[in-house]
Amino acid sequence: MSEKMSLFARLRQGMSRSRQQMAQVMEMEGDDNTPLSEDYFDSLLDAMILSDMGAVCAEEAMDKLRMVVKEKKLRTNGEAKAALKEILVGFLQVEKPSLKWPMVILTVGVNGVGKTTTIGKLALRFQGLGRTIVLCAADTFRAAAADQLQVWAERARCPIVRHKEGADPAGVVFDGVQSAKAQKADLLIVDTAGRLHNKKNLIDELAKINRVIERELPDASRENLLVLDATTGQNAVIQAKEFSKAANITGLVLTKLDGTAKGGIILAIKRELGIPVKFIGVGEGIDDLQPFNPHAFADGLFNDLPEDFEE
Ligand code: GDP
Ligand code: MG
Repeated sequence: MSEKMSLFARLRQGMSRSRQQMAQVMEMEGDDNTPLSEDYFDSLLDAMILSDMGAVCAEEAMDKLRMVVKEKKLRTNGEAKAALKEILVGFLQVEKPSLKWPMVILTVGVNGVGKTTTIGKLALRFQGLGRTIVLCAADTFRAAAADQLQVWAERARCPIVRHKEGADPAGVVFDGVQSAKAQKADLLIVDTAGRLHNKKNLIDELAKINRVIERELPDASRENLLVLDATTGQNAVIQAKEFSKAANITGLVLTKLDGTAKGGIILAIKRELGIPVKFIGVGEGIDDLQPFNPHAFADGLFNDLPEDFEE
């Protein structure tokens, strides 16, 4: 199974709920060959609102679409929908950064969004690409957090640095960095605790962790990934704003797109904060992390993923 096929299949499955709703909305206005009408514009707008991308973003896309339709003299539903997809892809498009080693990936996000699971999946992905990895359990809030990371470390056959429950997270990161240096590892992935009930504490802690990494590994490339649960809808935008104050977030991982997900939230966050999505989570298994593909995503939003791509 190629990665592309798997991506389509999982995306189609993952985004099924919002897609079904959108398909219902849009089918009322005929098929792709039906002459374009004001009603079809309305149903495209409804479809976007259903995806949770936020009214402002949806209106902006509609304004652009009306301009393109006029300029290019588009005449059918299908032409308008294709143009809208291109507009949304344009909203999401970012330069593809080249990977530079060694790299430190710091994951942040509130409890339960899928940080530890994402780290496990990332470790397996990079291990499969021949990279050497060290995991660092800086979520010292509960012993179970390090235990959970350890299970993933065993699966990915990579070392893990952990301390006792309640230990200083920055201290664990210090040791993690030393271990990564000693082993000349390509990649250090750091798990953190996601408590937001004390914002100052969280911000201070992340700042301290950042200082340790900067001081001890000044030449490493850095990714600070904010992990967000797609099923939380607009609340994810609030989390993105909070965590952007605490750390220089370089990318998002949107998890649980396989659930009742409404993936449009990606567009809302990109629009408001300019942070690109790097990966999407589409399940709890080790293979269920995919690099983000804006084209497949836009197709998925409008129910246009190829039907013959089955797992
Ligand atoms: P953390 O508190 O942020 O570290 O979150 P965890 O990694 O412990 O994940 C919380 C729960 O979400 C676990 O039950 C995971 O299996 C589940 N989970 C994580 N990512 C995904 C995903 O992409 N899809 C689904 N369905 N579940 C996920
Ligand atoms: Mg965790």
